Amino acid sequence: MKIKTKLTLGVGLLFLLIILLSLVSGGSVLTLKNDTNNILKANYNSLNYSRKMMISLDEEAYDQTAKKRFKANMELQLQNITETGEGEITQRLKDHVKELNATDQNKEPIRQLIRQDILQIMQLNMTAIQRKSKLANDSSDDALFWIVLTGSSCFLIAFILLVQLPRNISKPIKELTESIRQIASRNYKQRVAFESHSEFGDLAKSFNTMAEKLDEYNSTQLAEVLYEKKRIETLINNMNDPVIGLDEHGKIMFVNNEAINILNLSKSDLLGVAAKELALSNDLVRSLIRDMKGIAGKNVPKEDPFMNIFVNGKEHYFEKELVPISIIPTGEREQQLIGNVIILRNITSFKELEFAKTNFMATISHELKTPISSIKMSLQLLETKDVGTINNDQRQLISSIREDNERLLKITGELLNLSQIETGNIKLFMKPSDPYQLIHQSVEATLKEAEYNQIKIVVQTEENLPLISMDMDKTQWVLINLLINAIHYSPKGETITISLKQDSNKFRFEVTDHGGGISEEYVSRIFDRYFQVPGISKPGTGLGLAICKEFIEAQGGIIGVESQLAKGSTFYFLIEQ
Ligand code: ADP
Repeated sequence: MKIKTKLTLGVGLLFLLIILLSLVSGGSVLTLKNDTNNILKANYNSLNYSRKMMISLDEEAYDQTAKKRFKANMELQLQNITETGEGEITQRLKDHVKELNATDQNKEPIRQLIRQDILQIMQLNMTAIQRKSKLANDSSDDALFWIVLTGSSCFLIAFILLVQLPRNISKPIKELTESIRQIASRNYKQRVAFESHSEFGDLAKSFNTMAEKLDEYNSTQLAEVLYEKKRIETLINNMNDPVIGLDEHGKIMFVNNEAINILNLSKSDLLGVAAKELALSNDLVRSLIRDMKGIAGKNVPKEDPFMNIFVNGKEHYFEKELVPISIIPTGEREQQLIGNVIILRNITSFKELEFAKTNFMATISHELKTPISSIKMSLQLLETKDVGTINNDQRQLISSIREDNERLLKITGELLNLSQIETGNIKLFMKPSDPYQLIHQSVEATLKEAEYNQIKIVVQTEENLPLISMDMDKTQWVLINLLINAIHYSPKGETITISLKQDSNKFRFEVTDHGGGISEEYVSRIFDRYFQVPGISKPGTGLGLAICKEFIEAQGGIIGVESQLAKGSTFYFLIEQ
């Protein structure tokens, strides 16, 4: 049954019960009223007339007025005959009254008879009053009975309605609420079963359809997610680079075959195990997770990302990348770290190529150095008059050969230095050295070049500086390189300043020029290998400054540049004692 019908019927029934109760009570009250009225009208009046007749009769004088009053009451009594036998007695009373009025003899015996008649009328009415009162009593008992019966039935029905109706409505609502809660907690198997004819039946049908669809959607989603998971797992497993995934607590969540191979452990030894625990017994794991701390975005001290690992008896080179994985959970604003992924990029083949290149560079530059030096010597011989006179054209040719030879010598020297750096073969010869001598020799070595380019070199040094512990040759190489660059990148006629200052335990060497300067965007890259500022057409390899940096840093120093476009540059290096 529909809830609407149930409510209408329930309230309607209550309404009917109220009407019924009102009718029964009203009817009973009406019956009682009739009964009392009856007594009042029929018997009370007769008693009243009788009493008045008795008073008039017993009056001393019983004169005309008393007679009239008596007669009037008797007439009224004659019209108020209600009981059986009352008519005859009243008629007899009338006869006796006539007789009393007619006689002149002793009236007392007739009066006695009249009194008896009046008393009989009174007696008759009093008996009737008693009987009728009993009847009224019975009617009131009946009324009470019916009122109680109807009242109790109404109460009973109303009570049943009061208990049943709200329960009938609230029970399905409760069930539905619980089912919705279950669905919200992803229990898509939840269904509701209500009586199918009510509105709740329709609601239950819609709810069950929704739950079924959600269940179906969930199953397909789950299948899709599982499929995607499998695909990603296969992808990761087939990667040539080792990959290790950790959760936010540092436990290993996934690890691919390559990673298992380099870690030399079985998959079951790794999955679900805290990386920190493994690190206690495995050096490789320890170095892999060393800088894995903090939340994504926070600064973590960077480790050298390159590592060499022995796998199957062969040395392999890897570049480590630690990727912190963070998400913003639904409904939240803060980023939350949910894990880290360690990727080891296998760079063995690149490294091997690099070694081959460095070896090649070293061999070539080494092999070229001797013939270039002998060309230099031969040129020097040619320039002396001992080998014969040379004309002007020949002198010019010799001069340009000498310049090219110088450049070749510089390049082979730089390549040799670089190959030494790349193979980690920089050998330092640190000893207390005279800084004035260093500056003097460097200026001497570049003087010719400066004269040729019409550049003046100014030396500004503090006095009485102590000996500085350094590798004299390498530092001089750096200083010459900075001076040569300053000469090359200065316009003709300019001045270059070379200075030396002491700042507590640091010695600052500076080479300042007033050339074109370096654009801000290139300053940070100027010390990179093979870097040359684009658009500047000067011959060079882009290796000089990179080698300078390696030489200074190998001695524990710092090298840098301060430059302004169109104003010039100051290259400096600091050596700490
Ligand atoms: P290169 O052999 O090309 O000179 P360097 O490593 O010595 O190589 O210099 C790298 C680049 O830095 C140069 O190509 C040049 O563009 C720039 N550079 C070096 N010194 C100066 C300087 N004093 N003024 C302006 N630019 C310079």
